[in-house]
Amino acid sequence: MRYDVAVIGTGPAGVSAAITSKIRNKSVILLGSRSLSPKISKAHRIDNYPGLPAISGSDLAKALKAHLDEVGVGITEKQVGSVYAMGEYFGLQCGEEMLEATTVIVASGVVQAKSLEGEDKFLGRGVSYCATCDARLYKGRPVAVLGYSADSVNEAQFLSEIVDSVLYFPMNGEEPEESENLKVVREKPLAIVGDNKVAAVRTDSGEYNIDCVFILRDAVMPDKLIPGVETDGAHIVVDNMMRTNLDGLFACGDIAGKPYQYIKAAGQGNIAALSAITYLNDIKKKEV
Ligand SMILES: Cc1cc2nc3c(=O)[nH]c(=O)nc-3n(C[C@H](O)[C@H](O)[C@H](O)COP(=O)(O)OP(=O)(O)OC[C@H]3O[C@@H](n4cnc5c(N)ncnc54)[C@H](O)[C@@H]3O)c2cc1C
Repeated sequence: MRYDVAVIGTGPAGVSAAITSKIRNKSVILLGSRSLSPKISKAHRIDNYPGLPAISGSDLAKALKAHLDEVGVGITEKQVGSVYAMGEYFGLQCGEEMLEATTVIVASGVVQAKSLEGEDKFLGRGVSYCATCDARLYKGRPVAVLGYSADSVNEAQFLSEIVDSVLYFPMNGEEPEESENLKVVREKPLAIVGDNKVAAVRTDSGEYNIDCVFILRDAVMPDKLIPGVETDGAHIVVDNMMRTNLDGLFACGDIAGKPYQYIKAAGQGNIAALSAITYLNDIKKKEV
């Protein structure tokens, strides 16, 4: 199936984009997390969301979730690894699955983590952001996992069933249960080193020889998520209709620049959806 609209991210921007797309009768897939966004649930009290004074983050999440249910948008709990412009449509790599959509709305929030030394240099040559996608490439070989995301522990356990050994660096405090071939290293990774490909992780206390480093974050920098998209640092460059330099690809919310605010994110999600709908309608007119 090819969706009219794929929305990446379940914060206020993505939820708003999905609601408008659905109300306007487009087939929509909303990719993210059923718990929506940690940036919603972590807010103690929100004073500037119109109509919902002094609401807590968890109540705002409940209200957004109820709105999705009311219009009939489900959440597909998948992490999008890459988005490829294929001409008439986009391919969205989610683990081993490739989804198709005519338009994509990127609402993935802003990535605040800085790249590790060597990360950009070795991307695709021993640095991976997706255990499900690349585990088989390292079958029987030693790897490291830098676990930033909530799902990293499960991903590391999955990896340990395929690769020779896993060294797990807990970057968010959570640790997997150790086993014969899964060891936790409580040291701070400083650099990924090698010549033409990854050879080791250097920490504040030593160096560990491995063939691949899986860096598992909730979100990756936009230029790595979407090859060819125009960016300005951590942001995707958009015009005032949330259009990017790639036809059919739109961005909204924190990923589209400051200020980082719920209502701005929700408003831009609405604009991005309306722009995607105009784009889809223009395609239809050309076909007729
Ligand atoms: C503690 C805290 C308090 C705040 N208080 C306020 C406030 O009072 N008022 C206010 O206006 N703003 C506040 N903010 C700012 C506000 O949270 C953000 O501006 C807003 O959440 C941005 O929404 P968004 O939809 O753009 O992105 P986010 O809320 O960051 O959501 C993005 C979602 O996309 C998911 N995602 C990322 N990449 C992928 C991928 N590849 N595949 C699938 N899913 C992906 C992420 O996991 C996340 O769930 C606060 C922020 C924090 C951290």
